[in-house]
Amino acid sequence: MRKPIIVGNWKMNKTIAETKAFIEAVDPAVTDKADWGIATPYLSLATAKADAKNLIIAAENCHFKDSGAYTGEVSVAMLKEIGVEWVILGHSERRQYFAETDETVNAKMIQVLTNDMTPIVCVGETLEQYEEGITKDVVKTQTVAAFKDVCPKCAERVVIAYEPVWAIGTGKTATNEIAQDVIGYIRSVVAELYGQEVADKVRIQYGGSVKPAGLKALLEQPDIDGALVGGASLVEDSYKEMIAALD
Ligand code: PEP
Repeated sequence: MRKPIIVGNWKMNKTIAETKAFIEAVDPAVTDKADWGIATPYLSLATAKADAKNLIIAAENCHFKDSGAYTGEVSVAMLKEIGVEWVILGHSERRQYFAETDETVNAKMIQVLTNDMTPIVCVGETLEQYEEGITKDVVKTQTVAAFKDVCPKCAERVVIAYEPVWAIGTGKTATNEIAQDVIGYIRSVVAELYGQEVADKVRIQYGGSVKPAGLKALLEQPDIDGALVGGASLVEDSYKEMIAALD
């Protein structure tokens, strides 16, 4: 039985003070019906980690090297020092605007996993690729590349987020049937790589304009184990509505 996992991706939003206020409002409402989390900008992570009792606190990125001349970057050791053990990797905005590639995503996967942290690795097709009908080819390529040289024991800890790029921040969501179809396919790709037992343990989220009202039905799909949520995770009441929706 895979426990649902819902994580808010805050992107470049909220100051430290706003983060504190959010956690004060939302953290006490968290239930054990799912793992609930937020990924915040680096600057807010230490405060978020200190204040949250129940929410998982995740980074939105990290570097793949231990340390060195990489101006502006943050290492996993820096995250671990403040107790952050979760990291989003390969979000489409990083692939699109910050030259993240399948190779750098893979290097970060290895770095995160070998440091006993947990990645949420994002895969998903662009609108063009969706319209071309090559969604499954795209997510297979991204998934296989992300898991290169990842051992089976590490692989089962990974959370995958299937996020069709055309559904992120656009208000367009994939139907639950489309999301299930692609996520079921991603699980079959993991099974090809590691066998069914590992594939059955890997949690796979859907992401793309998820709203509180749609969350329950989304999670009723057999292969969908949670959601990566942008816009709807920024507002205290809407995050609390998501928690209430699973109660
Ligand atoms: C995201 O940023 O990962 C995302 C899914 O955003 P939104 O929910 O706003 O589409």
